[in-house]
Order: sequence, then C-alpha cells, then structure tokens
Amino acid sequence: MRLRNWLRCGIVLLLLCSGSLELLAQKAPAATPTPANMMPSVVTVPAEAQPSPAFNAEAATNAYLAEIPPAAKSRSDAYFEGGYWLILWDFLYGAVIGLLLLNLGWSAGMRDFAERITRFKPLQTVVYWIEYLILISILGFPLAVYEGYFREHQYGLATQTFGPWMGDQLKELLVGIVLGALITTLLFGVVRRLPNTWWIWGSLVTITFLTFVVLIAPVYVVPLFNKVTRLDDPKVTVPILSMARANGIPVKDVFEIDASKQSTRMSANVSGVGTTMRITLNDNLLHRASPEEVQAVMGHEMGHYVLNHVYKSIIEFLVLIVVWFGALKWSLEWSLRRWGQRWKIRGIGDTAVLPLVFLLSSVFFFILTPIDNTMTRTQEREADMYGLNASRQPDGFAQAAIHLGEYRKMSPGPIEEWIFFDHPSGRNRILAAMRWKAENLALFQGPNAPASAVTPPAPTPKP
Ligand SMILES: [Zn+2]
Repeated sequence: MRLRNWLRCGIVLLLLCSGSLELLAQKAPAATPTPANMMPSVVTVPAEAQPSPAFNAEAATNAYLAEIPPAAKSRSDAYFEGGYWLILWDFLYGAVIGLLLLNLGWSAGMRDFAERITRFKPLQTVVYWIEYLILISILGFPLAVYEGYFREHQYGLATQTFGPWMGDQLKELLVGIVLGALITTLLFGVVRRLPNTWWIWGSLVTITFLTFVVLIAPVYVVPLFNKVTRLDDPKVTVPILSMARANGIPVKDVFEIDASKQSTRMSANVSGVGTTMRITLNDNLLHRASPEEVQAVMGHEMGHYVLNHVYKSIIEFLVLIVVWFGALKWSLEWSLRRWGQRWKIRGIGDTAVLPLVFLLSSVFFFILTPIDNTMTRTQEREADMYGLNASRQPDGFAQAAIHLGEYRKMSPGPIEEWIFFDHPSGRNRILAAMRWKAENLALFQGPNAPASAVTPPAPTPKP
C-alpha cells in the first residue's frame, strides 16, 4: 500500500541519498517482460483448486504453486534474496559515506560555507542541505545505479533506458532538495529553541510533515514522474465501483497509472490522505490480469481504505518516530561528547551534525527492519482477508499472488518471512485464498455459482 511507502519514502528521504527510491516512477517506452521473467497467467484453475467435496486448501495451494516454471521461480528467488544483502550493503555504504563526511571535516566545511553565504540561520540550513544532498547523491551514485538500474534490467523488471532513468533521478533529487530543505529547517529550528524536549516536538513536526507529503503526493509529486488518468473501461470499472458501493466506499473514480514506463511490475495502491485519498491500478496489472484478478486486487486495496490503514499507519509512525528521536537525542549527545571536537561540530543544533544524524538513524532503522516489515505485513494480511470477503475471488487472488511472484519470493521460511517480508509471502496468500474458498465452496457450485477465475465476470446492473 502506498501510504506506508510514502511515509517510508519521507523517512528515507530524510535518511539517505534519494538515489534509489524505486517507487517514484520513471519514463520510457513500454516494453514487455522477457518470458524467462514472467510468471504464468493461469488460464484454468488447477484441478485440485476446483470446487469438490474433496477440496483441500493445502493441495490447492500446492497445485497453484506447481504452475510456476522452475526457471521463473529461481530467478525471482535470486532477485528477492539479493535484496536481503542490499539492505546490508546500503546500510554499510551509507555508514562509510557518513563517516567520511565527518572525519574528513567535509561536513564542517559545508557548514562554514553556508555561514559565509548568509547570516540568516534557516537559510544556512537550506544551503547546507543542498550541499549535503548533492554530495551524498554523487557519492552514493555507484550503488544507486547498480541497484536501481542495472540490477532491475538484469531481472527483466525495468523498461527504461539510461537517459530517462537518469532524468528521473534528477527529478527525485529536486524533490528531495525541496522537501528535505523544508523538514530539516523546521527540525533545526525546533532543536535550537527546545534543546531538551526537541525529540518530542520534533516528532510531532515530522509526522505532520509526513502527513502533508502523503496528502500532496498524489497531486503534486506522482505526476512529475507518471501520468495518472481516470480509468474509463466499463469492463474494469463497473465491477470495481459496484464492489465499492457494496462496501460503503464513496468513490466515483478509479485511477490508472502508466507504471509500464519504468517497470514490468504489476501493482495497485491506496495513496493520499483525506480528500486526496484514491485507489490507483497500474497499467501492467490492467494489461495482464483477468477481471477476476483485478477484482481480487481491488478488494485488497479497498480493505486498506475501509480498515483505515492510512490513519493507523500515521499513529504507528508517530510512535516509531518518538522512539527514534529519543534514541537519537541520547546517541547524538554521547557521540558528540566523544568526537564532537574532532568533527568540529558545535552541538545538536549545528547543521554539520546532519551526517551523524543519518548515520545513527540508519543504525536504528537497520535494526528495526523486522519490526517495520511486520507492522506493514500485518496490515497487508488484514487487507487480504478483507479483499477475499469483498471480492469473493479466491482464484483471482491466487493468480495475483503468482504474478507478484515475479519480484517476490513465493515460499520463504517462517523466520525469513518475519524479517524480510512487508507483505505475506505468495504461498501464504494463496493458502489464505484457498482456505477461504474451502469455507465457501457452496458459492462456486451449482447453477448460481458466481464468477470465478474460469468464467467471465457477471454483468453489473448500474452504469
Ligand atoms: Zn496492500
């Protein structure tokens, strides 16, 4: 779901060079994935998953998983497991950059430069932030280009040539400069005025800022990278809007995003907050998924909406940020007592402290990876359950899980899933769908059986 991504994006924006924010999109001619990469689009529901008195959720799940060619599975496993290591490399690479900036005196140098430019404190922070973000974007570029460009192409997930990819990196940098300058200036203002309680007030400022970013993102940020249009294919929208009405969701429109400009990934999301909240399907999903699959995915997204995951995430993040800032206050003071003089940092209110802030924060979030993933995964599981009940498309849902398996490992071990997965694994999602089907077999039998993945969707009464 996109809100959490945006919140995380906001934090990443604060934490890292913005080089590899993959969710901000890119521009290039559409391409189809290589067959080796593509998960099958199951035409028929496997025999074991057909309704029958002997229906068994486990056997049905295994039958679905058996539809995946071994080559596609090993490729997807390799991609996803490589991502585990990237968490570590990103952390170490960022830490080395931070230590270099501090120990070589570059951070103090950038602060001195900002002070020569202007005597106005907030402007000094802005100037420092611009210097800092550009410098770490350059230093972080080798890893960012591997991670965001070459590796994505290697696994058939990217559709962009280098020029447009680079163009989008520059746009991300600009967004990072503007939004980052805003929040760093605000936070340094709080730290300087409230040196003892800044971690509490700073948390409130940060969550307000992140909520603001989530609010404006669908309207002002996403369109910088992608075209978002109202979906007007009745074959797709009529069942979706009917489902929305049935679930008390007051939407009139569903949105489509041209994600194929950058990626072959199939996806949908809920984004925005309050009046900008919307459900968006990406065009990869629309082009490759059956109507049943689209309905299953939309049921999931509506689950995020109805279960108020946007607002719950904001509360969860507020708790997380308070703990983060509390830990930050303690560890900053401890580090500055030891090395402050050597790094020529005058105190926590000195902008030259920023590389240290990012370094300590990256330690915090690195350790917190499983907690963060589990918080997200829990909501995703809730949305899955809601989506199955709302859409009644367990086979469409199983197919969606297989398609998403192009970039997610299908069958991890339980500890692996707990640490690294921000969604339930594909296997567990199919199992949940088949369990739901086992308990609702009557729906799929007899002359009044509703649409399942083998039949076209029922016509809907209202335009
Ligand atoms: Zn979701």
